[in-house]
Amino acid sequence: MAAQLLDGKKIAAQIRAEIREEVAQFVGRHDVVPCLAAVLVGDDPASGVYVRNKQRDCRQVGIESRLEHLPADTSAPQLCSVVASMNGDPSVHGILVQLPLPAQIAPASVLDVLDPRKDVDAFHPENMGRIAEGRPRFLPCTPHGIQQLLHRCDIPVAGRHVVIVGRSQIVGKPLALMLLARDSTCGPQVANATVTVCHSRTPQLAMMTRQADILVAAVGRAGLITAEMVRPGATVVDVGINRTDAGLVGDVDFEAVRQVAGYLTPVPGGVGPLTRAMLLYNTLTAARAQVAEKIR
Ligand code: NDP
Repeated sequence: MAAQLLDGKKIAAQIRAEIREEVAQFVGRHDVVPCLAAVLVGDDPASGVYVRNKQRDCRQVGIESRLEHLPADTSAPQLCSVVASMNGDPSVHGILVQLPLPAQIAPASVLDVLDPRKDVDAFHPENMGRIAEGRPRFLPCTPHGIQQLLHRCDIPVAGRHVVIVGRSQIVGKPLALMLLARDSTCGPQVANATVTVCHSRTPQLAMMTRQADILVAAVGRAGLITAEMVRPGATVVDVGINRTDAGLVGDVDFEAVRQVAGYLTPVPGGVGPLTRAMLLYNTLTAARAQVAEKIR
């Protein structure tokens, strides 16, 4: 039987509706509108689309969005000074620096000046450290979106073997920490997994992936995960976004794996919409924390 597809678009719409309601309550209670400020450096077309989509998402749920668009030859100190002024602006609750940055700017140099209380991507070392300690302030949007997806599709994680292919700072590594934790925003059943993380130096990748109850592919290589690499009935979460002549595809050989897996996320329409929804969640979380801090 073909795998059941996990509809990320539908679940993201549910989450946005919940956030819209919560934003309205927050504004009514505090007379403060949550605000996300994005910084875009240069004219990369894909980054421009991502930022515009995020701004549209904000508008839909009642979050204010601002955009600082800087030229491609912006230096690291210039970008850091823009971020520093957003840090000091009390009407900005979340700051997002769109990646990738031009070659002359090391992302770490910008993260180091970003106020961790406004780091809605959760990439700042303090926020990563808090996740590792099991007391997160924010959760990175893609891993958190995956947890929400599994939770809302009634796919338990606790006690199961999750194999993650990819160890990046934004997907693989934080997801491993979050699934390894004792609890999650969706309860302990979406944590407490046994986690294996694979990467480009992992020998016998197929032998590892075949052991997964839940397999997450976050690599950026079209078709890397073939049907032979998937245990029959497993849940397969495809994070990859690859632009090919055939259009946008994930890391999973979709048609073949669909015949083997129990559940499968499509690309597009799987993890991507959830990533965007969780950015709104983090912006509201940031606004709540900053208002509470002022009241104290
Ligand atoms: P990175 O390039 O930062 O990391 C890729 C990881 O894959 C690395 O750990 C790398 O290993 C590993 N890898 C590369 N080749 C292989 C291989 N042949 N076998 C096993 N592992 C391999 O990517 P990101 O984590 O930033 O993104 C991964 C994919 O997810 C991309 O397609 C990206 O576009 C997409 N993405 C999608 C999002 C969404 O919302 N749907 C959000 C974020 C990303 P090593 O560390 O050894 O180099």
